[in-house]
Amino acid sequence: MLIKSYFILLFTMLVDLDHLFATPLFDACRCSIGFHPLHSYIAIIAYFAMFLYPKTRIIGLGLLMHMATDAIDCVFIRENCF
Ligand SMILES: [Zn+2]
Repeated sequence: MLIKSYFILLFTMLVDLDHLFATPLFDACRCSIGFHPLHSYIAIIAYFAMFLYPKTRIIGLGLLMHMATDAIDCVFIRENCF
């Protein structure tokens, strides 16, 4: 169970693949939240719904934690880039 959770959480990092559709591919001063399709507010609401549903709870949790770390990133971006 623990191993399975570990791989599910690892798998949630794949949401960053949506960065591949952005130009430029990587921009250190760009806030992911609200910019990339899988980091949009609608997507975050969907992740929260997944978290509330027991069968997809771990995936939802992983995705929400990912959004939280990206949001923390945005705070530093605001302080250092503008
Ligand atoms: Zn991300």
